[in-house]
Amino acid sequence: MKSERFKKLKSIRGPRSINLAMWGYFCVFAFILIVIVEVVFYIVVAGTFEDKATARVNIISNETVAELEKNPEGIHKTVFRYRSEGVNVYLLDFDGKILVPADVDGLEEPPLSETFIKDMKTRIGEDGKTEVFHFGASINLARVVSYKGQSGYVLVSYSLKIVHETVRTLQLYLIIVGVTVLFVSLLVTYAFSQKITRGLKNMSDTAVKLAEGDYTVKFANADYTEMAQLSDTLNYVRDEVKKSEDFRREILANVTHDLKTPLTMIKAYASMIKEISGDNKEKREKHLQVIIDESDRLTGLVNDVLSVSKLQSNLDVINFKVFNLTELVYGIINRFGYLQEAQGYSFMIDIDAGLYTRADEEKISQVIYNLLGNAANYTGEDKTVYISLKSSMDGKRIKFSVRDTGKGIAKEDLPEIWDRYYRVKENHLRPVKGTGLGLNIVKVILKNHSFDFGVESKLGEGSLFWVDFPAVPAEIEVDKLPENVN
Ligand code: ADP
Repeated sequence: MKSERFKKLKSIRGPRSINLAMWGYFCVFAFILIVIVEVVFYIVVAGTFEDKATARVNIISNETVAELEKNPEGIHKTVFRYRSEGVNVYLLDFDGKILVPADVDGLEEPPLSETFIKDMKTRIGEDGKTEVFHFGASINLARVVSYKGQSGYVLVSYSLKIVHETVRTLQLYLIIVGVTVLFVSLLVTYAFSQKITRGLKNMSDTAVKLAEGDYTVKFANADYTEMAQLSDTLNYVRDEVKKSEDFRREILANVTHDLKTPLTMIKAYASMIKEISGDNKEKREKHLQVIIDESDRLTGLVNDVLSVSKLQSNLDVINFKVFNLTELVYGIINRFGYLQEAQGYSFMIDIDAGLYTRADEEKISQVIYNLLGNAANYTGEDKTVYISLKSSMDGKRIKFSVRDTGKGIAKEDLPEIWDRYYRVKENHLRPVKGTGLGLNIVKVILKNHSFDFGVESKLGEGSLFWVDFPAVPAEIEVDKLPENVN
């Protein structure tokens, strides 16, 4: 049934798998990165090339014009020098015919294309304008000059063919690098997300086992801090669940056992009254007393269980009020009077008069009752219990303590006795009526009040349980203080 539910839970498709999400994010990230690199490359690299080429074309045209003015004969040399740099410099007449460089050593200078000439002429005209313009894969600058008494153009033409090819090759490399990076990052993300999800899946499987009641499971994943924290938390959850499961089992065993004994007794004595002692008054009284005692025991047990569950679920509100603690303690000791009268117990008391505190009277009464009951239950052969209620020197605190002369509590048991259903094995002098709930009730009540409390005990030397109450000055009129104030 349970596992069916979990299978169903497991099969529910969640919003998105980590694997896919990581893949997706990484792809988008890598893609954006590649696009940015490409764009930046294009703007910076290709743009810079063009800017540099334009600047160079300007410089060369200026130098050529200066050379023309200075030494028109040497212009051929200048033109060839630039050519070795990959820049074509021409002197043209207004019809576009090449004057310089003239054909050299039978090598014919190829004429410029007609469309180019036309384009240049419309842009520059014949009245001294200068302009940089693109034509095909070249950057060109033309200006009007006069050469050997004749007007014409100086044309500087810088071919960007190589540059464009280089840019294209680099772009191709970039794309190859980009795709490789994308592919490698996909592999890496896949491996990484697999690792994470495998860990999570293991934990989820383990948690299902835990839900099915296997408390031996261990959440183990220490690859990453967060995962290690999660498994620590889950291990803690497992321990807590196991504890409450153990508690549940124990209470069932304890309570059923504790309920069974008085019920059997009640039934047995009732039958005895019916069949044997009915007419014998003395016997009947005795048997009826057993029934009354056992019923009281049952009532106590049921009350304890109810108190615990109420306290644990915080259903109980604490009603603070000022009351006379001295009187409360005396009242409770009186309730144990039957132990003194009938069973030879002695209660040695050292109690200051007129001590007031502010707390939930009913609950504190339960605390003191439980502590006195335990002391009486566990005290030694002398059947003596020491009770003290003393004000501190400065009058601000009141210390209540109850000491017995019993076997005491072993050091390793001390922290545990406050837990629900905890009962130290085999330290009972006489058959004990306890349920293992008394001290837990004490603990929860005092914690809810934020009062200090504790136990000092050594094996063989008895135990001393104490509670520290805040003192309220005795002269404050109890009735005038607001009730139920937290
Ligand atoms: P119980 O109903 O069994 O007394 P408590 O919660 O009151 O349950 O106490 C828990 C356990 O602590 C007891 O079972 C007992 O083993 C131990 N304990 C409590 N008070 C004393 C005491 N005064 N002396 C020795 N052991 C004690």
